[in-house]
Amino acid sequence: MIGQAEVLNRDCRSTLNDRAISRHGSRRFAARLAVLFVLASLGATQASLAQQRVQEEDFYPAWAAQARYLQPLMVLDTDSALGRRNFGPKPITLKDMARMHGHLCDGLVTAWVELSAALRELFPDGIVDRTDVRVVSKNGPCWADAGAWMTGARINQGTLILDNLVGDGFIVQRISTGKAMRVSLRAGVYPAQLAALEQSIRVRCARGEFVAPAEIDRFELGANEYSRKLLNTPPDRAITLERLADYHFPDHSQNPLAPRSDTINRDAPRSSADASGESK
Ligand SMILES: [Zn+2]
Repeated sequence: MIGQAEVLNRDCRSTLNDRAISRHGSRRFAARLAVLFVLASLGATQASLAQQRVQEEDFYPAWAAQARYLQPLMVLDTDSALGRRNFGPKPITLKDMARMHGHLCDGLVTAWVELSAALRELFPDGIVDRTDVRVVSKNGPCWADAGAWMTGARINQGTLILDNLVGDGFIVQRISTGKAMRVSLRAGVYPAQLAALEQSIRVRCARGEFVAPAEIDRFELGANEYSRKLLNTPPDRAITLERLADYHFPDHSQNPLAPRSDTINRDAPRSSADASGESK
């Protein structure tokens, strides 16, 4: 009986062991499956995040990211609401400015190139103290945003003045030294045909007349091509810098107001035609 019992016990243990092994195997299989599932989920999440990141960065094209003469600007600000100057500088970029402004456009790119050159002239050590700058800009959405954002000048503090007489350029003054520079685009750098197309679209928009989506496409392509060329041209070939002796900063009460001009076609349809082709 004892022998039988041992056999039975052995069989029973063996069966229990087999079941345990089988359960253990199932658990291992389930655990492996769970790990694979988690890894697959992580992979899918990462792919989805990567796709999201790509879409989120769509506003900044590769031609801008790879531009030859585009450099960050090193700036100093203050640490807090009580305004002690930073210990060290930080970089700002055209991409940062495009994100803040809402898009990358020909005006923003021109302003970046012009203001970078003027600020480097006023701060020869390459570190721009944004507590020490005032600016005159024309009243355009891109120009005024760049004039404020890159330099620290502000309309509400009387350090950013809007004056359309400066044209597609700026007057930039270092407050502590009084040194002032006028920066302008060289004649012929901005394509005349592109300026004419932009003007034609603006006039028709103001009159409530028809503007073909393909015309807006053509302008945007031309503006991007201009911007790409500008960022791949040595700045001194594209702009001029002029020292203004004994410059007196204007009265801030003269700031003109104007409606926003870079939203006039916000409800216009997109062209279904090839954007590089003629209007259809
Ligand atoms: Zn703009």
